[in-house]
Amino acid sequence: MSHTALINEQLPWHSACQEQLYSYIDNERIPHALILSGQEGVGKLLLAQQISHLLLCDSPNDRQACGLCYACKLIEAETHPDLIVINPEEEGKTISIDRIRSLEQTLTLKPHYAKQRIVLINPAHKLNRNAANALLKTLEEPGENNLFLLITDQLESLPATICSRCQTILVPKPTRNDACNWLKLRLPNKDISRLISIASGSPFKALELSESGVEKDYELLESIWAELVTGKTDPVIATSKIEKVHLQHIIEWTTRWVIQLIQVQFDPDKDQREINASLKDSQGELDLRKLFSLLDQLLQAKKLLGSSVNRQLMVEAIFISWSNIKPN
Ligand SMILES: [Zn+2]
Repeated sequence: MSHTALINEQLPWHSACQEQLYSYIDNERIPHALILSGQEGVGKLLLAQQISHLLLCDSPNDRQACGLCYACKLIEAETHPDLIVINPEEEGKTISIDRIRSLEQTLTLKPHYAKQRIVLINPAHKLNRNAANALLKTLEEPGENNLFLLITDQLESLPATICSRCQTILVPKPTRNDACNWLKLRLPNKDISRLISIASGSPFKALELSESGVEKDYELLESIWAELVTGKTDPVIATSKIEKVHLQHIIEWTTRWVIQLIQVQFDPDKDQREINASLKDSQGELDLRKLFSLLDQLLQAKKLLGSSVNRQLMVEAIFISWSNIKPN
């Protein structure tokens, strides 16, 4: 589903952020640079697009773009000259300095059509170091009519110098109920609760994952985790069984489970719907210190994703730690 189809949709978990953004607009005090930060799949891009459309539309109505004017038509056709979108050229790649240099040239000119020009950088943490330095110079002298919208789910990876030049808005995760209700309308025949768990509570990510048939991978990993902790399989065999599952998913899902298991140790009354069903029986017998150590290991592994890691060794090491998670 394209975001264009959702452009006028008001998501309940966005309302506080939207109010903040609308108040900037109503008072004509929009910061020249905003960071929209939040977990992957909570709709940060949609929010950025909604604000961009509202600002560029010729006759906005009730805080929404009209969808009918010339500006709205240009936006819909992705040809509005005053809405500049900067993405990595290929998925997984960084944003290069060339992209920011060509932006600098454009910014010296007045906006073509609108009063304002919007530069949407997504994801901003993909700016490479040189590109980030170049952008910093631009943010120091952004020009009167330019608004920068930086989107990221890894705020900690953005240089502090860039963050200090921007106003950061945290886009929250929806409640589980809001996420399920939103997704149910779009995927009436799916196991919504499971999809939301797979996507760590992010509805847009759940929507994307449902199209990739990833639920089977999740089930496989769930069963392997239960087998490992009960000693029914060993880490080497388990690693070979899971060869086809995306490494990023293995890391993400297991990190999520470990965090949930840690939370339950501190608060046994916590909502347990998200916890891997097959782990529920053993959660009382886990070693908290080892859980924290496994969490560290997973966070380190996450940092290495995308570099040339030895997948087999990484997964085996995680499985070894997990299979020893009970107290000695
Ligand atoms: Zn319009």
